[in-house]
Amino acid sequence: MDATTHCPRCDAPRSSLVRDGFYHRADDSKSIQRIRCKDCGKKFSNATFTPTYRQKRRRINETVRFCLASNMCPRDIAELVGVNIKTIAARLIWLAERAREKNKRKLQAYIQACGPIKTVQFDDLITFEHTNCKPLTVPLAVIDGVRIPLGFRVAAIPAFGRLAAISRKRYGRRADHSVQARNGLFEALQAVLPPDVHFKIDGHKHYPMLIKRYFPEATYTVHASDRGCVVGQGELKKTKFDYLFSINHALANIRAKVNRLNRRTWCTTKRPDRLADHIDIYIDVLIDRLEHDRKYKHRRAVKP
Ligand SMILES: [Zn+2]
Repeated sequence: MDATTHCPRCDAPRSSLVRDGFYHRADDSKSIQRIRCKDCGKKFSNATFTPTYRQKRRRINETVRFCLASNMCPRDIAELVGVNIKTIAARLIWLAERAREKNKRKLQAYIQACGPIKTVQFDDLITFEHTNCKPLTVPLAVIDGVRIPLGFRVAAIPAFGRLAAISRKRYGRRADHSVQARNGLFEALQAVLPPDVHFKIDGHKHYPMLIKRYFPEATYTVHASDRGCVVGQGELKKTKFDYLFSINHALANIRAKVNRLNRRTWCTTKRPDRLADHIDIYIDVLIDRLEHDRKYKHRRAVKP
């Protein structure tokens, strides 16, 4: 009775609970302890209080998590692990919930280990839901130099450029939630960043206003955006030295690893909240990868 502290029906304490045999869980071939409550007679098990409670395919979770952050689309993942595509859709939501908690903890652990964050890079990634005529913006903040994401939001914006008129004709006027989203993100950043943090931003006119409002003691430098090189497709720059490399690299990496953000893809986002879920899972896997790289760096450096 490891994780069990109370009865799920009558809230009886652990002293009222007794062991009541085992059952074989076919899904992952495990023996699970059954538990009975002496007060109300309700039977449950050690699996009742685990995060995977009521899942039918527990073994796929790690693979799905990894594949979602490795540029695979839900249909291919479903084929790979042998489940229905709807199971992958459900697992995306489940994994995202856990990823958000994990990401928060990992960030706190990073601050504990490396001290307060000194410099942050900030920029927006543009994508769309359903059609190019319905763009979305993803404001993202990363730690300078280590490209660990601090937070992001997903917000609808009106179409711009040559698509603006077409978009209005087809879908009507589209609301602009970007200001609200950036405000929300900066409010959340106040909890993790020291007040005298330094921001590196591009020429976007909204950013200095945000910094002054949420971090009055903070400083910032503006670096003009340069032409992209082909490999980064806009995010990675052709110049010799890119002052905003951390954020540009992070955005290029998200585009490459989150399938629905690829350029010229037919795997498009249908719901902005699912895009947010997907990015949360990506960040979770990314921090694991960065951690792994850091751990094994010295081993690769040693030559025989
Ligand atoms: Zn009970």
